[in-house]
Amino acid sequence: MASIFTRILAGEIPGTFVFQGERWVALLDIRPAHPGHVLLIPREERQYLADLSGSTQAELGLHLARMTLAVKRATGCPAVNVVLNDGPEAGQEVPHAHLHVVPRWPGDHKGFRFAGAPYGNGQLATMAERLRAAWAAD
Ligand code: AMP
Repeated sequence: MASIFTRILAGEIPGTFVFQGERWVALLDIRPAHPGHVLLIPREERQYLADLSGSTQAELGLHLARMTLAVKRATGCPAVNVVLNDGPEAGQEVPHAHLHVVPRWPGDHKGFRFAGAPYGNGQLATMAERLRAAWAAD
């Protein structure tokens, strides 16, 4: 689905790029959680990570690990969050897959914790089985 990122990638509207590769680019987020908040964006126009081509998916790990280092080096932050909002129900506003690399500082109160709850009786084993089957189905 075409989005604001399509227009930035096409050069129709400005973006501040950190790198521009064949399959992936990195852009400064225009409303950063902290300065140095970067978006890693595939050139392929797909909403969901799993819909990207195999070659684009395969490059992600290298770019992502390298970007966590670049953000730490450039900002001096001791830690980063890597966030993927993979669908609107997960908070995705721009329907073009992208990963956030967010600098984090001690006591910055930018973090979040999921309100976790333990599994009920037998539910952990059932869910593990379902996940193993789903994983094997691909
Ligand atoms: P998400 O909620 O995961 O879809 O995140 C979308 C991100 O894109 C937000 O953090 C926005 O601040 C960022 N964003 C939206 N428009 C632009 C833009 N023109 N340039 C850079 N970042 C943008």
